[in-house]
Amino acid sequence: MGKRIRALPDAELRAILRAADDLIGQAGRSMLANILKGSRNKKLLELGLERNPSYGFYQDLSLEQVMAKVDHMIKTDFLEIQYSGKLPMIVSTPRGWALERERRAEEFLQEWDNWIANGVVPVSMEYLKERNRGMILLILYKVLCTGDPKYIPFLAIWERTAFKKVQAEIRKVADALSRRHEMEHAEWERVTKEQAASLIVRLEDPIFQVCHRCGELFIFDEENPAHYTREAGLRFPDWCPECVEGKG
Ligand SMILES: [Zn+2]
Repeated sequence: MGKRIRALPDAELRAILRAADDLIGQAGRSMLANILKGSRNKKLLELGLERNPSYGFYQDLSLEQVMAKVDHMIKTDFLEIQYSGKLPMIVSTPRGWALERERRAEEFLQEWDNWIANGVVPVSMEYLKERNRGMILLILYKVLCTGDPKYIPFLAIWERTAFKKVQAEIRKVADALSRRHEMEHAEWERVTKEQAASLIVRLEDPIFQVCHRCGELFIFDEENPAHYTREAGLRFPDWCPECVEGKG
């Protein structure tokens, strides 16, 4: 903790986390670097990792340079190495996963938008079933925040194959969207805030941040909906709550 090394720029940060997402707990740094490099590594191709959206993101860098980027991600606490037996595996830290789950949720919603724009209606939403619960609920939160009833038919399809707890949340969101037009602004605010409490869930481990103003460590509250915007995604605050309030 208390690390002062700057994180990589946003675009790189997100690209590396996205690359890592397909091999969490299954491969190490060098496979991650190979995806980002866009290499024709045999094992990489066997695993179908060339379909990862970040494949070839760093195609103009040497493998050593890409490896240095990966190590920078580890030093700045977005990824870490855990051992599975003797094998070092890449896993994301709470901080890395908080960013990545928000990005993945956004990706899924964009896919829905494309389907809707092209008149595609999926037969089933089974593909969402085994996904990470926190990420799934974040998709629902994003759907809710649009206030757009166009998602209701998709929610109905999703509800059929979802687990019970998720089903209940899907119903609440569909219900809110169907009543959106009859709600005043203040009531809508209240409904989204209320539902945010069950849709944005805490990670297993806390995320620590160093305040840029006072230098103290503080715990980042990932359940605060104010940190999520549709345009910018998840943002970590630079200042601790005390400094923000002017008391630090
Ligand atoms: Zn502070």
